[in-house]
Amino acid sequence: MSKIGFIGLGNMGRPMVSRLVKSGCSVKGFDIVEGLDQAAGCQTAATAKDAADGVKVLITMLPSGKEVRDVYLGNGGVLASLDANVIIIDCSTIAVETACEINAKATALGLDMVDAPVSGGVAGAEAGTLTFMVGGTRGGFERAKPILQIMGENIIHTGVAGSGEAVKLCNNMMLAVSMIGTSEALVLAERLGVDCQTLFDVVSRSTGQSWALTSYCPAPGPVPKSPANKEFKPGFSTAMMLKDLRLAQRAGQSQFLSIPLTEAACQLYADFDRRGNGELDFSGIIELIRDMGR
Ligand code: NAD
Repeated sequence: MSKIGFIGLGNMGRPMVSRLVKSGCSVKGFDIVEGLDQAAGCQTAATAKDAADGVKVLITMLPSGKEVRDVYLGNGGVLASLDANVIIIDCSTIAVETACEINAKATALGLDMVDAPVSGGVAGAEAGTLTFMVGGTRGGFERAKPILQIMGENIIHTGVAGSGEAVKLCNNMMLAVSMIGTSEALVLAERLGVDCQTLFDVVSRSTGQSWALTSYCPAPGPVPKSPANKEFKPGFSTAMMLKDLRLAQRAGQSQFLSIPLTEAACQLYADFDRRGNGELDFSGIIELIRDMGR
């Protein structure tokens, strides 16, 4: 039975913890919001340090690089107090350089750490079908893999530390652009009097097909579990998507690369966020497209 500490019990962390607990792992969970450990079904840790104390595996699933840095390196950060045999797995989506910085500090302390961001959303976390893109040493990857297999279906070693985050940012650039494109097409079809289900039936078997359409359709109806059917309750929040697009923008700038569609997607998500929709699911961008056309 693996002893696991889990920090960050939000939309993704809770179902990930539930799977670990159901598979027989002993999990201590911590979140700054009280009561989420009960919702996840794990033991309660009073602090991040308490969650990390005496475990063999430490997993973090936090909103952004700031929280990840604070938890590992900040005042009372857990890195310095971990046992040398602990494997650290950060599943948050953060900047490549932040992942590399924390990994280097962990390595200097003799600890194995991998960045292992995920794809598949809350539904994938609930079903245990996430894809993990894992950056770090081959040894770190092999140690993390059996734990990640409890929560995911595809566990892929992407290369050195930080490469998991690099792959994740590229994935989310594509996701944001395809969600906006899908939303534009759905709104145009609406205006042209085409039934949404009919469009879905055709495009899901045609070249316009995408995950944004077939697994996460931004219009209610065709995909019953998509956030569009629950007033865009996240899921994956607009604020999180905007964070990832800004990270992708920065990464593009660092390589002197022009990424015009990502820039445009970032502006649209920033606009949607400014209108007070940061906590809505990112597929709610379809509402902005509808409004822009009025
Ligand atoms: P969330 O905001 O629902 O959950 C994050 C949790 O971290 C919150 O419960 C928050 O209270 C907690 N937290 C913040 N600071 C903390 C601290 N210092 N100590 C302990 N807990 C702290 O976010 P989420 O949707 O679960 O996403 C988590 C990460 O996974 C993000 O980096 C996101 O980009 C990524 N991600 C999310 C999805 C998705 O569909 N939601 C999919 C793939 C990747």
